[in-house]
Amino acid sequence: MSGAVAGARRPGGATGVRPAVRAVPRRRVPHRIAVVGAGMAAARFARQVLALVPEGRVRVTLYGAEPYAPYNRALLAGLLGGRYPSGALALPTGGAVVRTGTEVVAVDPDARTLRTAGGESAAYDTLVLATGAAPVLPDLPGLYTASGALKGGVHPLRTLGDRARITADARAGGAAVVVGGGVLGVGTAQALAGTGVVVHLVHSGPYLMDRYLDAGAAGTVRRTLASLGVTVHHDQGAAEVLGDDGRISGFRLSDGTRIDARTAVLACGVRPRTGLARAAGLAVSTGVVVDDTLATSAPHVYAIGDCAEHRNLLHGRAEAAWEQADALAAALAARLSGTRAEPRCPAPPVLLRLVAGPLDVAAFGDSTASCDDTEVVSLADATRGTYRKLVLRAGVPVGAILVGDLTAVGEVGDAVTRGEPPAGDALDLLVGESYP
Ligand SMILES: Cc1cc2nc3c(=O)[nH]c(=O)nc-3n(C[C@H](O)[C@H](O)[C@H](O)COP(=O)(O)OP(=O)(O)OC[C@H]3O[C@@H](n4cnc5c(N)ncnc54)[C@H](O)[C@@H]3O)c2cc1C
Repeated sequence: MSGAVAGARRPGGATGVRPAVRAVPRRRVPHRIAVVGAGMAAARFARQVLALVPEGRVRVTLYGAEPYAPYNRALLAGLLGGRYPSGALALPTGGAVVRTGTEVVAVDPDARTLRTAGGESAAYDTLVLATGAAPVLPDLPGLYTASGALKGGVHPLRTLGDRARITADARAGGAAVVVGGGVLGVGTAQALAGTGVVVHLVHSGPYLMDRYLDAGAAGTVRRTLASLGVTVHHDQGAAEVLGDDGRISGFRLSDGTRIDARTAVLACGVRPRTGLARAAGLAVSTGVVVDDTLATSAPHVYAIGDCAEHRNLLHGRAEAAWEQADALAAALAARLSGTRAEPRCPAPPVLLRLVAGPLDVAAFGDSTASCDDTEVVSLADATRGTYRKLVLRAGVPVGAILVGDLTAVGEVGDAVTRGEPPAGDALDLLVGESYP
């Protein structure tokens, strides 16, 4: 698009006639950034880029398939447990245009256009894919009805809509089963237990949150869950969903145990949403492949958040999504303001923090390392339900776990991130209070 003013003629032009109208100052046409997805990465990116670029120089439009304005998905389990009012989840977008209930069904990177499910076509200058991830559903006999829908009472937990359906089913009575003992499963189990529901947490692994915790920390988590009324079933996967009227009546576990339940939450991991990128011819592995500048294989198209795969890594965490959003916003803002800056995909953040309920858990870096070259300092207090561990390599903190007491979370996180030997005693660092 041109910024020229229609009807104006250049002084001294071919006719030699001075224009009758005064020259109107040249108006810059805003750079159009379209963001597919209106989730956590999209909202953060929009807010940052609009804050950094001088007013009027950029127009950001978020296209979101969900019927809601952007919200903090990581607080959904807390919302389920009544820990937050629903308004507390809203995320600012800095004045971006937010098109809720608007799924983008096709992108043409050559023509720089996108098409929505409603048949609308829109042009962009820069496209950001922030399509997030979809829940993985386990391959379980009895999970689906004859028509292919999930059996009544069975839900993933990814959206505000899922949360509303789970709450309605859980309120109707009966026990609930949470399948999957990772971060989401543990958060969901404690949130539901907090509302007075009888909860069973089924986990096929040897201990809970095994990606981040060791057996000692997981044992502390398990005892805390038990005190909240959650029964943990270890080492036994769910083998079958029971109920023959299109609605769940319970689960059979792999050791034959039967659990009666009217509600189930599937917390079995997520998979990046890549369908749109794949159909547009972009390079896709498990996620949409991006380079160190968060650029995809197509010009003017970037990807951030849960849908993006950088150096063979998928993060699946809010903090990583936000860091990528910040990095891309800063780089695009610099370019639009005429400064050169290469967007650099940030190093993967090291922190996991469970925010769903009374159970406090944080893990950093190489928290489960158990090699000959590592030294471990740990402190467990079964009575208080606390567990603290610091992993050091050549005297340098490389990982840590804190359960039940997060007093030292800031200092420990900094120590692992800095990768320098602690200034004082490692135990003091773990305890937090007396550390310099
Ligand atoms: C219950 C729960 C608890 C969590 N807890 C934590 C936690 O404690 N700590 C943590 O770090 N992370 C947590 N996470 C993960 C965190 O929420 C995600 O990492 C984060 O939401 C990723 O942001 P995103 O923008 O990439 O994806 P999303 O927030 O999922 O947003 C993607 C959006 O894009 C939309 N979309 C997809 N395709 C299209 C399309 N074609 N057109 C239009 N819109 C489309 C989707 O509908 C969705 O709204 C949790 C997640 C859940 C579900």
